[in-house]
Amino acid sequence: MTRLVYIEDAVAAHPRAQRILAHFAKATRVHCSRYSEVFNPRAQNFRLQKSDPALLLARKLNKLVLPAPTGYAIGGLNNYYFSHMLNCVYDCRYCFLQGMFRSAHYVVFVNYEDFAQAIDGVLAQHRDEDCWFFSGHDCDSLAYDPLTGFAQWALECFAARPRAQLEFRTKSTQIRSLLARPALNNVVVAFSFTPQSVHAALENKVPGIDKRIAAMLQLAHAGWRIGLRFDPLIYSEGYAVDYGQLFERVFSDLPVSSVHSVSFGAFRLPRDSFKTLVNLYPGEPLLAGPLNTDAAMVGYRDNLETELLEFCRARLSDYVGDNKLYPCQP
Ligand code: SF4
Repeated sequence: MTRLVYIEDAVAAHPRAQRILAHFAKATRVHCSRYSEVFNPRAQNFRLQKSDPALLLARKLNKLVLPAPTGYAIGGLNNYYFSHMLNCVYDCRYCFLQGMFRSAHYVVFVNYEDFAQAIDGVLAQHRDEDCWFFSGHDCDSLAYDPLTGFAQWALECFAARPRAQLEFRTKSTQIRSLLARPALNNVVVAFSFTPQSVHAALENKVPGIDKRIAAMLQLAHAGWRIGLRFDPLIYSEGYAVDYGQLFERVFSDLPVSSVHSVSFGAFRLPRDSFKTLVNLYPGEPLLAGPLNTDAAMVGYRDNLETELLEFCRARLSDYVGDNKLYPCQP
């Protein structure tokens, strides 16, 4: 339960901030002029904060929509991302956010309407072309949705902008806002999965695989386009059995016609982020695995990475064909 909420003065009276605050009647409230005063200072203890994160309600002022990183594309030419939230309610040991942000506190930017304006600006730059907007780069798109109301806003926003394609990316089962309305053709709900052994060892607080599959099937049956994200792929000696079982479990009841895209990529982190993780979790076996730690992008040693990727590509192709497969690494 969040015990401390920081509120930027500029959003204190914002109706969305007020609605979120109503969920935290007993929390201590602290006003500040900019969330970055709390979020950005050096020498914060990410691990300690992760066990009791504060919530920061803020306004996103600039860089509201940014070009998506290489490897994000799922068939589109123009790829962007935007973040209504920084950080995640879950705690995956491989998560790159731990190496990216100095703080584990949750930031929610409540000025969603300014994101819509920025999206319109991008669409105007690409007249007559579709543009993709990814909403799960700096957070899980839906995990905090009962508090943020992000999905309902985003669905209204994208329903009015058919040239804009939206990806929600999630490990959650928070799909109520989606089920409450007819499916949209320009929205993909992408679920991320790892095998049971990886989930149990590395995905703290993440809903179980069967619960996520059940949520995914509900959406598929309601007509929503489904994405599957197997990223990161985690190597182990038994990876072939583990991933084989996972794919069988995920695809067994899912109509292929509902699947928009399947992307996959081996575990990798920029070297600085990797070092940050090692400092945070020095005993973590994942970080002591068969990795090439000298490279600018730390990942599995070449032969293992290729073996893992090729195995998963072949198996996934058996389920959905090659034309829906997107490797995350360029
Ligand atoms: S669900 Fe995604 S964003 Fe959240 S902790 Fe796990 S990897 Fe990070």
